[in-house]
Amino acid sequence: MKSVSPKPALLNSAQLTGQSQSHLREAFPGHFLHRGVVAAYLVLVEQAAEEGIALRLASGFRSFERQLAIWNAKARGERPVVDSEGQPVTMAALSERDQVFAILRWSALPGASRHHWGSDMDIWDSATVNDGYQLQLSPDEYAAGGHFYHCSSWLDGLINSGKTEFFRPYIHSGNGGKADGVAAEPWHLSFRPLATTCETALTPDVLRKLIEKTDICLQGAILENLDEIYSRFIRPQY
Ligand SMILES: [Zn+2]
Repeated sequence: MKSVSPKPALLNSAQLTGQSQSHLREAFPGHFLHRGVVAAYLVLVEQAAEEGIALRLASGFRSFERQLAIWNAKARGERPVVDSEGQPVTMAALSERDQVFAILRWSALPGASRHHWGSDMDIWDSATVNDGYQLQLSPDEYAAGGHFYHCSSWLDGLINSGKTEFFRPYIHSGNGGKADGVAAEPWHLSFRPLATTCETALTPDVLRKLIEKTDICLQGAILENLDEIYSRFIRPQY
């Protein structure tokens, strides 16, 4: 595959873990991406438009603070935790270790979200739904018969043809793939040239130091299981 992008500079540790926004640019109102990714994303939007797809960002950059709030709300039972089939998990019945892994099925460890980097985004197609449509980001929406199946199939073709530098890091999970890691997220796209450098830079040591100094629920269980968390959820083989 021909690379059209210059090799991106490494993010510093604050940028890498979502604690700084200095690497970002607003791609669309309210949605931020790494400044080196915006142009490539806009090309993808144009390519999609030629297929009748109105590619939209549901989520680009997400901060450490935001991810921490989601994590703590799930750990405290203030936000539902669901399994890979979307069924509610009774957190109180689980050990702390199992609570950590239940949250990780759908939510990244704060500091370890690919959305911190600005290289990753959740996308949908506004051409196939009404204005008031409540976006779910559920596998059904992207599967055959779902609103975003056309968009998803088009992305499959584009990615498989090697004509884009975007890829889907979580597409092989779940259905017949890795059942023990992050659930399949067909809506999640990643810009490979930048994401690859971030994956390498985000070591277990970076995360351990960050979690140790963070006021986060289940901190002890996270630190005890960090190596397993890392291999299953942060750098799985895809
Ligand atoms: Zn995502």
